[in-house]
Amino acid sequence: MKVFGSSGTRGVANDELTPEFVLKIAKAAGTVWRTDRIALARDTRATGDMLADAAASGLASVGADVDRLGIVPTPGVQSYAESEGVPALMITASHNPPEYNGVKLIGDDGIELSVDDLERVEGKFLTEAFEEVRWSETGHSHVIDDARERYVSQLLDSIDTNKIADANLTVALDPGHGAGSLTSPEFFRQLGCRVVTTNSQPDGHFPGRNPEPVPGNLHDLGLLVEASGADVGIAHDGDADRAIFYDENGEYIEGDATLAALSAAQLEPGDAVVSAVNVSQRLVDVARETGATLELTPIGSTNIITRIQELRDQNVSVPVAGEGNGGIFFPNYRLTRDGAYTAAKFLELLVDASASEVVAPYGGYHNVRTNIKYTTDAEHDALLAAAEKTATDSNAELNTRDGYRLDFGDAWVLARPSGTEPMVRIYAEAHERHRAEELAAEMEDTLRTAKADA
Ligand code: MG
Repeated sequence: MKVFGSSGTRGVANDELTPEFVLKIAKAAGTVWRTDRIALARDTRATGDMLADAAASGLASVGADVDRLGIVPTPGVQSYAESEGVPALMITASHNPPEYNGVKLIGDDGIELSVDDLERVEGKFLTEAFEEVRWSETGHSHVIDDARERYVSQLLDSIDTNKIADANLTVALDPGHGAGSLTSPEFFRQLGCRVVTTNSQPDGHFPGRNPEPVPGNLHDLGLLVEASGADVGIAHDGDADRAIFYDENGEYIEGDATLAALSAAQLEPGDAVVSAVNVSQRLVDVARETGATLELTPIGSTNIITRIQELRDQNVSVPVAGEGNGGIFFPNYRLTRDGAYTAAKFLELLVDASASEVVAPYGGYHNVRTNIKYTTDAEHDALLAAAEKTATDSNAELNTRDGYRLDFGDAWVLARPSGTEPMVRIYAEAHERHRAEELAAEMEDTLRTAKADA
């Protein structure tokens, strides 16, 4: 796909991602959906209302009425789409820097469009085969002013609120000026938590921090946890479909450790858990210990959603899935990533233990990551041929869903071509640092030799 990547389409707003571009995306989506009502929402970005106006015009011109939800987290839009049975268009660039914006497309089941559906929209976009209607059939906008309230009450209906309320937790929250600023403080208060916040005024200039919830952007949250004596710190990305945590000592918890802890709490023998090929050894170990199957997909949430759907069609139970970036699925709740819901599931674990205790079993893993750049097709081909030969010669368990992942039971190494840059990425992880370094170095040496001979 040229227009849509693995998580929608994104670019610098008013430069790469112009109102004209969004208008055409909206016309293409409206043409494919062929429905008389479509929801439209946005995150807090400064260019959000400009682009939402363009989207509303495009949708109306192909005959759809537009439910304008205003600023709502992506999972809130998905909740609205599912409960109303209407597709939705979300203006967001998720975790990207402030100057970016983008479009996510959501089906009338509340789930992000599949690759097949996105390709149909892309086809209409590229050929401009829009089905514009006569003047008298154009759509109209309707302001929906309670989408956020409906989302919060739907969340509360999905969670064991008494259990969390009885634990008297203090939550330090950093919604990062994003859409979660308008829903998560209220949600955690309604859950019975004391809530202290930082960066929680919605602001599309993101004055306090950039939208990506990575440790370099979350220094204030660590300090707030310490200063307030909070039990946990919670951070969202710009559209609040992700949650990243700090423990009660103000220490960052790796997303892979959170995913492992939440999975260990959900999985039963015979279940499957779905993640991407760069999955941490932590989740490999949890799956083995619980008797669950670990299913790996190419990197990107669309691929994970597709695999969950395939497994559920085969009557396989998939209670949890996701990646180590804080984007976690609880498919029995909804086949979406929901930062507030994920955080509530983590709070459930804090009823009986502190945050540091909850993730302690998933510490002590070491990751190594290197890149090998290439400039010619011959080098690219030589690198991948060498990776393939290394993989087939090895006695490790092999996964070729996205590059070559070699699982040694206690450790793994992965070589895969980057989707965005001319380089092959090498990842390795083990309990012992030297083991991870050794696995990465072996792969790197073999690939560099092959590249030199190309
Ligand atoms: Mg996001």
